Amino acid sequence: MQNSSLYFNKIEDFLDFLEIPSLIHYDTSPNFSFFTTKHYAKKIQKGNPFDPLLLQILPQKQELEKHDQFIKDPVGDKAAVQKSGILKKYKSRALLLSTRACSLNCRFCFRRNLEHENYNELSSQLDQWLAQNTDIEELIFSGGDPFSLPTQSLKNLLDICKKHTHLKILRFHSRYPITDPQKLQSFLPLLSTLLKNHQGVFVSHVNHAQELDQASFEIFKNLQSMGYTLLNQSVLLKGINDQANSLIELSKKLFSQGVLPYYLHQLDKAEGTSHFEVSDEKALQLHQKLMEALPGYLVPKLVREIAGEAHKTPLYSQI
Ligand code: SF4
Repeated sequence: MQNSSLYFNKIEDFLDFLEIPSLIHYDTSPNFSFFTTKHYAKKIQKGNPFDPLLLQILPQKQELEKHDQFIKDPVGDKAAVQKSGILKKYKSRALLLSTRACSLNCRFCFRRNLEHENYNELSSQLDQWLAQNTDIEELIFSGGDPFSLPTQSLKNLLDICKKHTHLKILRFHSRYPITDPQKLQSFLPLLSTLLKNHQGVFVSHVNHAQELDQASFEIFKNLQSMGYTLLNQSVLLKGINDQANSLIELSKKLFSQGVLPYYLHQLDKAEGTSHFEVSDEKALQLHQKLMEALPGYLVPKLVREIAGEAHKTPLYSQI
């Protein structure tokens, strides 16, 4: 049960808080439920129905439109399942879908339509699977968001990782630095114990500079001082960050918080997300502007994920 003083799960309450008239065209009963932290909601400009953070989480009627190319599993997650909750797509790396829960429900999410497995057996499955797959050097904690797990559940999974000495790198993908940094703070003692035997990588998912604040700065500073490598991935989203200035500001602000821009993803074509699509032509033009405006280390790689491919595919290789 979520603490309602920290979350919004009713769109009407959320729009009231933002002083946005509920006349605007949103979907009142979306298939993929509405959910956000209040911490994130407070960064949205009041009274602005076009705010780039609002548009990431407000269900739109366009989500109901069907388009042939927009499908339930656009990146081939199902075909990559090894055991319930364990996926392998790339050499020497595996992905752990540790929970289906997130701190907010992003409308563009590529896993929004997936039926999640029951992860109750995940610990024992992971233990057995890692024992049989000693080529795996890096385990990626994803979900959902791994920091939506109760601390003890994440600890149980991490204890299993410690037993398997072929695992060299533990990587965490999360939006918690910008959605609920206080909760993430409570995981820091656990995260700090890992780096005695592993290298740690933390990949935040920030799409707009407005998502970053003093609280995200502090959490990144803590993770960095513990020894984590900090990277960020963004999704290119129509009406949200598809302007060169917006992406340039994001890269600069990430760096000011100690985070390197890593990937700028073309949208994964999940059913219900077509209104966020940016054309490849525009994406390449934007990327060119980033290269002209920024030092190379602040230019994220522009990629898309193609189901079944052995790596992410740079857009430049497709023209
Ligand atoms: S998995 Fe990531 S993109 Fe999808 S809803 Fe959760 S936080 Fe958002």
